[in-house]
Amino acid sequence: MTFILILTAVGMVGLGSALFMMRTQPRGLYVLFFAEMWERFSYYGMRALLVFYLTKHFLFDQTVAYGLYGAYTTLVFITPVIGGLLADRYLGQRKAVVIGAVLLVLGHSLMAFEGEPVSPGASPEPMVLNIFYLALALIIVGVGFLKGNISAIVGQLYAKSDVRRDSGFTFFYVGINAGSFFGALYAGYLGETFGWKYGFGLAGIGMLLGLIVFVVGKPWLNGAGEPKDLGALHRRPMFGLSVEQLIYLGIIATTGLVWWVVRDQETVGWLLYLTMAATYLYILYTSIISLEPHARDRIIAALLLITVQILFWALFEQAGSSLNVYTDEQVDRTLFGQAVPASVFQSLNAMYIIFLGPVFAGLWLFLAKRGLEPSTPQKFGLGVAQLGLGFLLLVWGATSTGGALTPVVFVFLIYLLHTTGELCLSPVGLSAMTKLSTARMVGLIMGAWFLASGAGNFAAGVIAQATAVTGANGESQILAVYTNVGWLALIVGVGLIVISPLISRLMHLDTLKDER
Ligand code: GLU
Repeated sequence: MTFILILTAVGMVGLGSALFMMRTQPRGLYVLFFAEMWERFSYYGMRALLVFYLTKHFLFDQTVAYGLYGAYTTLVFITPVIGGLLADRYLGQRKAVVIGAVLLVLGHSLMAFEGEPVSPGASPEPMVLNIFYLALALIIVGVGFLKGNISAIVGQLYAKSDVRRDSGFTFFYVGINAGSFFGALYAGYLGETFGWKYGFGLAGIGMLLGLIVFVVGKPWLNGAGEPKDLGALHRRPMFGLSVEQLIYLGIIATTGLVWWVVRDQETVGWLLYLTMAATYLYILYTSIISLEPHARDRIIAALLLITVQILFWALFEQAGSSLNVYTDEQVDRTLFGQAVPASVFQSLNAMYIIFLGPVFAGLWLFLAKRGLEPSTPQKFGLGVAQLGLGFLLLVWGATSTGGALTPVVFVFLIYLLHTTGELCLSPVGLSAMTKLSTARMVGLIMGAWFLASGAGNFAAGVIAQATAVTGANGESQILAVYTNVGWLALIVGVGLIVISPLISRLMHLDTLKDER
């Protein structure tokens, strides 16, 4: 508990300074910051417990638990495409976020329904298990309506030429990470110490707070996220039902489908490929037939940036799997005379972001005012290159000890470089998506952004498996894999910086106009 209190105090200092530094941003950013912070609190809080809940409460075997975890975390990245599309066409982003938040409150609350712990040799009660899958399905569909759309509303707080945009998204990203940090800390602690339902219940309460903040804070959004075509929602295209009613029926049907599909990792993998192909083709097709040449080029630039993310997350997400295992098995984790558990290092990334986010937000603004801010593709290149450097530094640290355990400083350093890389790419990318997209496509483009993250996460699993393969004499291959991916990322990052003028040209920032 003392450890938790210390971490809370440190996190609060970071959060407080971020909130203070945000005061030059639009007021609506505070609403979105807190709403998304609580949503991520619930998401990461529940996620921190999920695998343990499966293996210790339901007594699932580890492979089954990992499979389900993989299917769940992939599906939450697929549904934002649908949520984004519906928001663009009918709902508007604000209403879509409210729908998502309500579904999430329901889902997280249902998670607290745990039934009796399963005894060894017995199977979980089908009814309890089905309620659990229903909770997962509600969360997956809820994230689909909320995650991309709330980011799209952030973009609408800024004029296209506003130099505060990247900084604003960087602050928003601090909110995301504050939520993930405190969520995993508290829901994880409550769930593991006092009982699962308390941890999941806390996640539910967090999400309810997020919903309240968002609804109460509506006036501060100044009309951002309202539908483009007010009449569209009330048209009655089928069976005398309005579009809005049909959307609600669609939500029930999709939840039912996800409730079933989440149990099968292979089908989820196929669903990811299919959705990726369909989304890229649909975006290209729509922009070619309906947009003027500059707007179309911007969408192509957005698609290029979206694609870079697949490589980024595939390597970055080694954190939770292979890098976590490496830290556990090959690193000297002694700090102040005590061996620190490997899982504690998982909170480093969020903690770094809470403190470094405001520094980066200030840096972009400082450079922008002097005409020195790197372009978006240059920032992406810097992000990917730092990711590669992180791996190469770890490999160097590991091989320079002459066979002894790797000094823990290299774990701090790799996460530091990966975090600074993330700050150059992820919030900047969210910002770029809202800028490059037309107002009528922003939800879809944001959905595609998260879909690529999902593909990256999926690929991360494959890379992690490659690190587990041993050589002919049983020797670990992990450092060889890290060397390869490190160089790959460094080369791609530098390559991106070299070709950045070409991508920048496609962005046509000179002819970018505001549209509501
Ligand atoms: N950690 C960030 C979040 O939860 C990143 C998501 C992503 O794009 O992969 O929003």
